[in-house]
Amino acid sequence: MSEREAYECKDNRVLLQDTMQSSGENQDPAAWLREMDIVSYDFPYAASLIVESFREWRSLAGPAFAKSWNWGVLNFEGKYIDNTNFIGHSEQSWKVQWEAAAAFALESKELYTAHQEADGHQMSFLVLPIFSRGKREIFALLGCAMPQDQYEQGGLHTAEAMAAHYETCFYRRFEHVFVSDLAGVHLHAERESNRRSLLFQIVQRMHDNIDVNAVLNEVIDSISAMYPGARLELFMSQDHRSTHPQVKPLPLCWANDDVCAKAFKDGRVALYAGRDDCHSVEIGLPLGGKQGVYGVFHMVMDKPSFPEVDLRFLTMVADTAGTAFENAKLYERSNQLIRELRMSNELTQRLNQSLRLGEIFQYAFEELLDMFDADYCCILHMNEEKGGLEAIACNYHPLLGEIIEKSAGLGGKVYATGEALILSDYQNSAGTYSRLMDATGSNSIIATPLSVGGEVRGAIMLTHRDPHFFSYDSYRLLQAMAGHIGLAVGNARLHAEVRRLANRDTLTGLYARHYLDEVIKDKQVTDFCGSLIVVDIDQFKMVNDTYGHQQGDKILKQVSEIVKSSIRQGDIAARWGGEELAVYLPQLGVQQAVFVAERIRNRVMGETKPRVTVSCGIAEWSWTDEKVSVESLFYRADMALYEAKNNGRNLVVIDNKKAEVGAKNPWV
Ligand code: GH3
Ligand code: MG
Ligand code: MG
Repeated sequence: MSEREAYECKDNRVLLQDTMQSSGENQDPAAWLREMDIVSYDFPYAASLIVESFREWRSLAGPAFAKSWNWGVLNFEGKYIDNTNFIGHSEQSWKVQWEAAAAFALESKELYTAHQEADGHQMSFLVLPIFSRGKREIFALLGCAMPQDQYEQGGLHTAEAMAAHYETCFYRRFEHVFVSDLAGVHLHAERESNRRSLLFQIVQRMHDNIDVNAVLNEVIDSISAMYPGARLELFMSQDHRSTHPQVKPLPLCWANDDVCAKAFKDGRVALYAGRDDCHSVEIGLPLGGKQGVYGVFHMVMDKPSFPEVDLRFLTMVADTAGTAFENAKLYERSNQLIRELRMSNELTQRLNQSLRLGEIFQYAFEELLDMFDADYCCILHMNEEKGGLEAIACNYHPLLGEIIEKSAGLGGKVYATGEALILSDYQNSAGTYSRLMDATGSNSIIATPLSVGGEVRGAIMLTHRDPHFFSYDSYRLLQAMAGHIGLAVGNARLHAEVRRLANRDTLTGLYARHYLDEVIKDKQVTDFCGSLIVVDIDQFKMVNDTYGHQQGDKILKQVSEIVKSSIRQGDIAARWGGEELAVYLPQLGVQQAVFVAERIRNRVMGETKPRVTVSCGIAEWSWTDEKVSVESLFYRADMALYEAKNNGRNLVVIDNKKAEVGAKNPWV
């Protein structure tokens, strides 16, 4: 087998054995080893092996006289590298002699001898080349100094035999080194392969998980299984909650030289070996991805040191975990965003179904409770009339409809400051008071101001009995939802205002005629009866002519105010047209309506400046009428008014039909 083949097979002895068996050669499994040789590339690195072999060779048994000779060893370039038995000052001279002789030996590739006097003795200096097995190259030279007489008595042959022995010693050591190297390589390869397959399994399992917690559990369990004696914990920086007992929040404060602080800050593995007691290793291993560092593993092991390969392996596991964690987190985040979008969509859709404020608050309240899985929801809305925040929707019923002081409690605080709030452990947080939290035994709260058209108009609060129930994401989501609710409330308010304006007459502030028509129409469906008074200012044309149109307007307003303040809540006063007003009195018959009309007539006569009078026509309808309609009611009231005008004005006249029935009517 050639040297090359032997080299190729050195990593695979089984293959080598197979080849040997199949070719029917000598089945000695170590034969390949004897083919191993030192080659010229190795020469510059072989010095220590040459010296060690030399020392070993010197310590072995040999002829006593030969052992007493001076021996030294030179490298492949003929440079002296070691001598174990120089004594005194002569060592330099041996060295010089040998190195000079080595130059000749290297050139001739043969033993070289010189005879010279040294320290008063006639000496022989020999340099014996040591050849490699294969190519017969000189990789070392032995130097020997012996008395010349001994040289002549066969010392040369002894020296040659000893040099041959040295070569054997060298090759034995060489093979030993080679074999142990090989075994080391093999062991390393085996360990590496085990590690790689373990890493592969971990990577696969981690990337199979798209759940953030599962990734963390997987990596902790994997590292714990690999280093059974290690104490391991994982500090997470995000608002991350894990059920795993070894996952903890990142400490707020770290010692300067903390291994975790260093690893977290640098984003690289940090190792302190044998710091306190010299028996333990402390490792900080960052859990990071492309977008940042999410946490740090803290590992303590009872060993004085930690191998570099293990550290590299741990780093790879942590890097994989970081990427898997980041992926899972991104997946979770995108799911969360989709969920938020869907919920926001649902909420806005539902809010848009109504333009009534009450309904909007009710919808918002129901949706928020559901969306955040909260125990309680309370929406506060500013009630200007009552001068406080009204609990307009709340599932803690004693609070519903209550008026809360503007800055009282957590809701009041949110309203007053206009800032959102998140509290995770209310019962243990000093300096805060909330009736809702106390009464419901809640511990977690997220609250946000409710802004309408840029102005804070209320507050929304969501609570839960469990501490740390709401995440930062929920807190953020609530604020986004409050924005939608605020918009819906704003729209409803605008709509109500538009409706109010559309139903009102601008000059008098009374309802418009079409509104009165609608109300009467509705009432005729639900009520048993009702009366209509038509009020007309007498000789108003003349008033205008006398005082001017502007003054006429003022008088019209005065009369309108008198009408408004002469009727009950629930009665409806409208401007029917021009200087004619109308009042509808639900559930009243003409007999009672007359009192109202008289009150109006009298007050107008007494209170207007300049003084004017009014005439009134009254008509009523009742469910017993053959045909009930708004038009006929107006017509009949108008007829009565016409009669009042004809009868001299400043009069109240009841519709003919009824007047006939109630002939005793004193005002006709
Ligand atoms: P009487 O009802 O007593 O029969 O006399 P009159 O003068 O009030 O009757 P008429 O219905 O003929 O005239 C109504 C006048 O009211 C005509 C118009 O100049 C005046 N008028 C109607 N609307 C307004 C208004 O909004 N402002 C003012 N200043 N005058 C108005
Ligand atoms: Mg008139
Ligand atoms: Mg008129």
